[in-house]
Amino acid sequence: MVATLLSIFSAFVTDMTTERTFIMVKPDGVQRGLVGEIIKRFETRGYKLVACKMLWPGQDLLKKHYAELSDKPFFPKLIAYMSSGPCVPMVWEGREVVKMGRMMLGATNPLQSNPGTIRGDFCIDVGRNICHGSDGVESAKREIDLWFQPNEVAKYESHSKDWVYE
Ligand code: ADP
Repeated sequence: MVATLLSIFSAFVTDMTTERTFIMVKPDGVQRGLVGEIIKRFETRGYKLVACKMLWPGQDLLKKHYAELSDKPFFPKLIAYMSSGPCVPMVWEGREVVKMGRMMLGATNPLQSNPGTIRGDFCIDVGRNICHGSDGVESAKREIDLWFQPNEVAKYESHSKDWVYE
């Protein structure tokens, strides 16, 4: 009985390592040469990169991505900023990666982001906060489906998995 429960629990925990989040380097992050730095932080933490590309997003895509903010006064500026140059959208996989991704990014307003976070280390202005990260598991799924075709997301076993997870 205990063994069965343990194996169900361990299967559940193992499966959590496949949680996915959508992280995107914004046009200012690309222009400032911070793509490598942002990738490095997720990679060295132990998260697995399963999708990554560069594209210059159009306004239609961005309006869908930020649909929940469409009534905010800064919405037109946000769409102009995000469509001002190429972005690097990515999908990262790993245990609690949605929550940890947000913590690694820091607060929306960089002036409230702790040093050591991506925004806390590399930017100042809320309208130039260099990187996006999904705020929940459901929004991550929606954003991944919006930005990537299923065949753009790689399925592979990381050779370091057993060195990252017990
Ligand atoms: P987050 O990106 O941290 O999830 P939101 O979803 O609230 O934050 O906002 C989306 C983006 O809109 C922010 O990352 C930022 O670029 C921009 N933004 C948010 N609030 C403001 C604001 N008050 N003025 C200008 N831009 C803003």
